[in-house]
Amino acid sequence: MNRFIEMAAELLYPWCCPGCGKLTSYKTIWCGSCINDTWNPRLVNSSVTDHLDGCYTLCDYHSGMRKCILQLKYNGKSELSKAFPPLLDRFPWWDRMEDFKIVIPVPLASRKMKERGYNQVDKMFQKWMESAGKEYFPQGLVRLRRGETQSLLTRVERYKNIKGAFH
Ligand SMILES: [Zn+2]
Repeated sequence: MNRFIEMAAELLYPWCCPGCGKLTSYKTIWCGSCINDTWNPRLVNSSVTDHLDGCYTLCDYHSGMRKCILQLKYNGKSELSKAFPPLLDRFPWWDRMEDFKIVIPVPLASRKMKERGYNQVDKMFQKWMESAGKEYFPQGLVRLRRGETQSLLTRVERYKNIKGAFH
């Protein structure tokens, strides 16, 4: 019966790959081609402070992945939050996260939050982290001042831009 409901749901509400628009299943979400093109999980060893144990990335930021994130971030496509759990489920080093109890997202500037209506990080991670038993705590960081848009800055400029911006 469940399989019948799944098939009916796929017929009534077909899911398109958020990277290229090809018809896919709501279980896999992404097409194989977009996944193969961007899937590249790794630990990025480029921290600039002593306060960071590790920074992980799952996908390269180009092609379909870039398109999907830009749509979620700048085009109000909050329904694209569904695109991330299947990727996050494939995170290969979950055992390294076992000791962490609380997840704190970086808050948006209040002006951006008003414009966008949501923090895209919440859309991408909140449900996934809660289902993994972590406490998702958006109040953990407070933005003290507005900064320039990080995506338009160089690496050094980003560091300066963010310094002292949060409590
Ligand atoms: Zn695709």
